[in-house]
Formats: sequence, C-alpha cells, structure tokens
Amino acid sequence: MKCAAGIETRIVDESSINLDPIQAAGRLTPEAMKAVIAWGDGYSVCDHCHKPFRLDYVTNPPIADFHSDLSKWLGMDQSQVVPGARRAFQEVTGALVSKGEPVMMTGMGHYTAYLSVEVVNGVVREIPPTPDHHITADTAAERIEAVIREFGYAPKLLFIDAVDFMYGNFHDVKGVAKVAHQYDIPVLYNGVYTVGVLPVNGKDLGADFVVGSGHKSMAAPAPSGVLATTDEYADVVLRTTKISGDVTGRKFGIKQVGILGCSLMGAPIVGLIASFPAVKERVKHWDEEVANHRIVTDALLSIEGTKIASEFPRRHTLTRMDTSASFDVVARTHKKRGFFLSSALAKRGITGIMPGVTKQWKFNTYGLSREQVEYLAGAFVDIAEENGLRIA
Ligand SMILES: *Cc1c(COP(=O)(O)O)cnc(C)c1O
Repeated sequence: MKCAAGIETRIVDESSINLDPIQAAGRLTPEAMKAVIAWGDGYSVCDHCHKPFRLDYVTNPPIADFHSDLSKWLGMDQSQVVPGARRAFQEVTGALVSKGEPVMMTGMGHYTAYLSVEVVNGVVREIPPTPDHHITADTAAERIEAVIREFGYAPKLLFIDAVDFMYGNFHDVKGVAKVAHQYDIPVLYNGVYTVGVLPVNGKDLGADFVVGSGHKSMAAPAPSGVLATTDEYADVVLRTTKISGDVTGRKFGIKQVGILGCSLMGAPIVGLIASFPAVKERVKHWDEEVANHRIVTDALLSIEGTKIASEFPRRHTLTRMDTSASFDVVARTHKKRGFFLSSALAKRGITGIMPGVTKQWKFNTYGLSREQVEYLAGAFVDIAEENGLRIA
C-alpha cells in the first residue's frame, strides 16, 4: 500500500513490539491520530485566530487552555510550544548567551544542546560524568569555579538532563540546580525523557526552564515540544516584539520574538493537545512502566555474561545493556554476525534495536503491556538458549 508515489505506508508499531529508545513514548494516541487527520492542513489552527493574533490566545482548538494547563502541570509560570526540545534550547541560548560566553553543559548532553550554544557563538564548558555515569553537584561546583577562573564571570546558563539519553540514568537535578543558583546561573532542565512519562515539577526541582519533547515523550507528532519557565525569565526569553520599520513605522503587536511570532501549527500542535489528557493520566502510572521494564531486564540478566551498563536497579524504561560477554560472543561465530540478534528478534515481531550491534545497545519498553513485556522477556531468553548461552 502506498500513500503516494514513492511513499510507502509505514507499518511498524501496528505490527511489532517497537523498542526504539527515541520512539517509545512519542507514539501517537488514537486521539492524536484523529486530530492529525482533521487538522493536518497548513494553517488550520488559524481559523479562529483573532486579536491580538497570537497562537497561545487561540481558543478553538483549545490552544490557550493548553498553555495554562501545561504551565501548571509542570509547576512553572508560563509556557510556550516549540518545534522540538532543540528549539527550546535555541530560544533560551538566543536570549541569554552572547558571542564567546560560556554555557555549562554536562558531558552526557545531547548534540542539540551543544549546537544550541554553537548557533549563538557561545562556548561550551562541560561537567564530566562520574565513572558510573552520573552528574553530581560537587563536580558541577568544581567546573563552575573553573569557568569563573577562566572567564572572570559565571556561566550564562546551565543545562542538566533529568535522565540522559546514553544510559537512562537519573541525575541530581536538585543538587546541581542549588549549586548553580548560588552563582546566579539559570538552570535548564532537559526533560525529554521525563516530561510526558513521569511527574515533573520544575519549581520543586529548582529549574528556571523546563524543556520537553512532544515527539519523544508526549505522544505527539513531530516537530513538537514545550518550554516552560518562571515569570522572571519569561520577561526575557518569552519577550514580545518591540521592533518597528524605520520607513513604514510598522509594529507587530505582542508577537513573541523567540518563536518568530508563531511556532506550532496544524498537526503538531493539535496532536500534542489531543494526547495531553492521556499523557497527564499516564505519568501517574510510571511505577508500572518501571515494573514492566524490570521484567525484561531481569530476563536479560538471567542470560550468562549479560550486564546492565546503566545504573541499577533500573528506575527508567530506557536501558543500556552490555552483552559483550553474551550476545557478542555468539556474534563472533554466527553466520549472520552481529545481525543474528536483530534478525532473531524480527522473527518474533520485535523491532527497534540497532541492527548489527551486540556489545552495548539501548532499548525502551515504555508503553508496552504486561503481556508484551512477558513475551519480550521470553523472546530474549529463547534467543540466548537457541544460541547456546546458559540461563541462570
Ligand atoms: C532527543 C533528545 C533531544 C532532542 O529532542 P527534540 O525534541 O527532537 O528536539 C534533546 N536532548 C536529549 C537528551 C534527547 O535525547
């Protein structure tokens, strides 16, 4: 079946258990699917855009209510929708960082965070992770002091991942934020792996900015994301236009500069809003998600030689496995080499693990049912046994 010439119908999540770490929590709800079809036309959400002509004032569809609900839900004062977490980073660096100024980043940060500093010609200074892949308040303090010695002033902004993308480890956001605030450094909480899957309260954590990804963790279409902040920083980061034409004298009302007036339209915003009730409900069931995940990690750990590279016990549904002493040993002599694993999983209707990789690999079980995780756990053990690995 084709959508158009050269564009196949995509059938992945309909037919398979999909373990792709970045796709698991972005899968659309049925409500979002319907909304995407109904509102997919270009400027559809502008049907009812009246004075003062701002996206976050539109009441049909309920974009205005979504903004206020979102701020409350994240424990912050004001919100904005953005085309992806990366655009939130860029908006914040654009407002707070000038050429040559330092930004504190963790060594486990995402490339988009680094690039958001580069795009404003800022300078990155890193907080190194501990040997067990954590970012601590002590190291943050040391590195901030080093930046002050180097530049003569404190970093303009500090990025901290709630849960990093490499290991799915939790980091001491509260502790790091407390240190940063002692130097008056604003803190950007990167919640791409938390906002939309578990409860987040930005003010409790000491965040000046909370960033979430719609398409990664809020069951929304791409590109979508959220930026929430405090009244203090909203004045700067969510500032409204002051520019005017020198000949015509034209002015542009209260459009927000950081998103060039309007960010999300059509499918991304309506999909994000349509999933929001389900998302608000699902964060209350995070414990069940983790319990399901542990069924799979327990099964994997029962395979001789298998280790978990992430922190343990697991507290998140994204985990980095180390199978260099199990599946990778099989790969050395298997006729399919490293592809034996993805191929054996595919045969069982399981997809999303990087094909060919058997040393360290990541997977995410977010959103799977108890039945599905039990099936998955059994599948890993079967594949191990089939290939002569011992089960404890
Ligand atoms: C995926 C990811 C991002 C980028 O999110 P987008 O919404 O696609 O821009 C940023 N940071 C981390 C840690 C990520 O894993």
